[in-house]
Amino acid sequence: MTNQPPKIVIVGGGAGGLELATQLGHKLGKKRQADILLIDKNRSHIWKPLLHEVATGSIDADLDGVVYSAHAAKHHYNFQLGSFCHLDSTNKTITLSELKDELGHRILPQRHVSYDYLVLAIGSVSNDFNTPGVKDHCFYLDSNQQAERFQHALLDNFTRLHQDDDPQQALTIAIVGGGATGVELSAELYHVSDMLKMYGLDKMTAKRLHIDLIEAGPRILPALPERIANSAKRELVKLGVTVRESTQVKEATENSFITNNDAIIKADIMVWAAGVKAPDFIKDIGIFELTRNNQIKVNQYLQSSVDETIFVIGDCCAFTQDDGSQVPPRAQSAHQMAQCVEKNLLATLKNNPLSVFTYSDHGSLVNLSRYSTVGSLMGNLTSNSFFIEGKIARFMYISLYRMHQRAIHGSAKTFALWISEKVLRVVRPKMKLH
Ligand SMILES: Cc1cc2nc3c(=O)[nH]c(=O)nc-3n(C[C@H](O)[C@H](O)[C@H](O)COP(=O)(O)OP(=O)(O)OC[C@H]3O[C@@H](n4cnc5c(N)ncnc54)[C@H](O)[C@@H]3O)c2cc1C
Repeated sequence: MTNQPPKIVIVGGGAGGLELATQLGHKLGKKRQADILLIDKNRSHIWKPLLHEVATGSIDADLDGVVYSAHAAKHHYNFQLGSFCHLDSTNKTITLSELKDELGHRILPQRHVSYDYLVLAIGSVSNDFNTPGVKDHCFYLDSNQQAERFQHALLDNFTRLHQDDDPQQALTIAIVGGGATGVELSAELYHVSDMLKMYGLDKMTAKRLHIDLIEAGPRILPALPERIANSAKRELVKLGVTVRESTQVKEATENSFITNNDAIIKADIMVWAAGVKAPDFIKDIGIFELTRNNQIKVNQYLQSSVDETIFVIGDCCAFTQDDGSQVPPRAQSAHQMAQCVEKNLLATLKNNPLSVFTYSDHGSLVNLSRYSTVGSLMGNLTSNSFFIEGKIARFMYISLYRMHQRAIHGSAKTFALWISEKVLRVVRPKMKLH
């Protein structure tokens, strides 16, 4: 009888899943102590907090993305392209949907993949709360493809405005959701509009951009301290953004949002960036205990509450802390959960006791493009946070991405990537123009 190594299947190669696959590849895959398989519905990874920069063309996902198959070959795990749609926990098998090409032709039929241990790291999507018209008329920024679709619409509108000699004509963009995505996207849009003059679109300037940022709650950045929200709001207003707080959208039409007070906010481009939920198909799997946002409830070791061989990390995981609050859906949470599950899988294979997950909030940062960065950091000795702004905040914000790069590439390659980014900034256009 052959002694097969245990098979660990990670579904979702995002902020949490890709870091976990890399680390398990090095610690187990390399010595064939376990067979590590990463499954993602995309061929390449882009760190999700960068999606608003993909949407504005500030970065090019084709150049900055990590191609899973190449990464897997270097880091001792396997990669399979596929979209997870069903789970049979009794037979320890997951189902991947039929794989189709862009024209809808079948590449592969539905497939089944077996596992000994499963890690679900499939992230989250925006929650439109079934608001009428939103699915048909709004852009979302949940994936690379959606961000690229937005970028193409943006370029088309820049081109249209550049040809329009009437200076009164403006490009109007309405964004629902005053969280980090909406706030960062608003600032980034002013930044790229300001750069167009360098590339021959000199009649489409930031002065012809009008953004409405719509937030249902009493203030933008509701999850962050008030001081950060006030500072971000001041900066947005200075740029020209109309910040509409306490404004609830009840419907989206082809070119406008309609609010609860029946006010009409017209826009050429409409974005839905409010609310977070785990993908709806999780409900259909039927075995998990879920929150109302479809997040899977877990125990203190990040094992699903119904099956100890299934771990859950990142945005799709509902971890309740001692004070009753949920761990927020952030990149730092996904990173910390990946580290804990790495430890727990290693311990499981050695029959050692598991580690309890504790979330450390290191603070929050909001990047308003080149205009400002604001945020709070948690003190090491006290649980109080302190406010930071400007260059230090910007440095800390960039460090978050570097930490993710280090976790998936190692220090030497992260340094090489940093150098090559500096060089490419000189030889490449500063924004994606196609
Ligand atoms: C524009 C924007 C800005 C943000 N800024 C910040 C920030 O500044 N700081 C911060 O901490 N957080 C930020 N966030 C939140 C942060 O990106 C997420 O919390 C984090 O990415 C969650 O990591 P994850 O691994 O759970 O999911 P993700 O990183 O979203 O990865 C999920 C992966 O699962 C794959 N997947 C999904 N469904 C399936 C399926 N059915 N089958 C196979 N694969 C699947 C996806 O393709 C993806 O690769 C931001 C989010 C957005 C959208």
